[in-house]
Amino acid sequence: MIYLDNAATTRTDPDVVAEMLPFFSEDYGNPSGIYGIAQKSRAAVTAAREKTAHVLGCRADEIFFTSCGSEADNWALKAAFEACRDKGNHIITTQIEHPAILNTCEYLERERGAEITRLAVNEDGVVDLGELEASIRPDTILISVMTANNEIGTIEPIRQIGEIARRHDVLFHTDAVQAFGQIPLHADELNIDMLSASAHKFNGPKGAGFLYIRKGVGIRSFLHGGAQEHNRRAGTENVPGIVGLGAAAKKAEENLARKMEKETRLRDYLIRRIREEVPNVKLNGPDPAVARAGRLPNNVNFSFEFVEGESLLIMLDMRQICASSGSACSSGSLSPSHVLKAIGLSDSLAHGALRLTLSAETTKEELDTTVEAIRGIVERLRGMSPRYEAYRKGTLQAETGSSAF
Ligand code: PLP
Repeated sequence: MIYLDNAATTRTDPDVVAEMLPFFSEDYGNPSGIYGIAQKSRAAVTAAREKTAHVLGCRADEIFFTSCGSEADNWALKAAFEACRDKGNHIITTQIEHPAILNTCEYLERERGAEITRLAVNEDGVVDLGELEASIRPDTILISVMTANNEIGTIEPIRQIGEIARRHDVLFHTDAVQAFGQIPLHADELNIDMLSASAHKFNGPKGAGFLYIRKGVGIRSFLHGGAQEHNRRAGTENVPGIVGLGAAAKKAEENLARKMEKETRLRDYLIRRIREEVPNVKLNGPDPAVARAGRLPNNVNFSFEFVEGESLLIMLDMRQICASSGSACSSGSLSPSHVLKAIGLSDSLAHGALRLTLSAETTKEELDTTVEAIRGIVERLRGMSPRYEAYRKGTLQAETGSSAF
């Protein structure tokens, strides 16, 4: 199997699993207890919190464990909205956020009277800082812009957005689910108030995430019950999951430079080969060769004109190659990706998209096999496409450059 869907989820690192295992059946105590094995669990949660904080350069008591990235996103938005009701009801976000943000905003708008500004992005997927600043109003309470996009890998100018937010005394949250453990992130340097992340995206287990909340930001829990997580997120801690998150965060930090260098090299190799060997394609997201905007080291996203991305995916799967046509959450839906539409793609190019996301374990040989497979499949699918036939005959113009016929 060739696994190129690491933006959907990653393989839990076997070393991480080994660290988690004792906390299922041996050291299974509830961290709230006072006896030996409970204290062991408590110490393990504390150690995981410290490891996670170290990656972000923040204090351990600014990390609050959650069940996933979506929970962290929900918490940040809903609790900030509630905490700032006296000041206003206006939230600024972007059109290319993950559904965990977009649907939470929609809920707040529909059910709670929030007013939401959804900023457009340019063709690379980058928000315009001038437009962002101009959209701030006296009743703006929160800006939420993702650190990096899950479909096209665009890295947003988070530090500058944080500066703008601070200047206007507005809270700043960033969904860093695709960025934490993939690129360097330092909470203070980036002027972040809140940040969401999820362990299964950086070789940790599923079912564990966290919300960073800067000291002094007064948002409360939206899960009420016991006093866990400094009274801010009730529920008995998922000790094995939290231990796994901490171990994965530490490993990601140690390997970050090497992983980024390797993935960037392989990403650029894959982009170059597809561009050179498959006609009528469009790279979605920032072009590393032009470097107008940052792109996640592991993200490649191409549209193949005259091809249905879903068909391409199924045929890749038959060759044991795992890829994605967009975000895992929206696959299966017939409407084209909101991210690809926001960067200006036509419906037909958006439907022809394929996302390939690499890991530190990906090899050049795997990419060579993948390019060969894509070449063959695209040729076959185009052979069955009436639109491609029309293009060949010169009666239909291609969106991706001039006719080769
Ligand atoms: N935010 C982004 C940018 C994501 O890519 C994802 C998952 O794909 C999430 C949030 C949700 O994370 P989780 O699956 O941990 O709930």
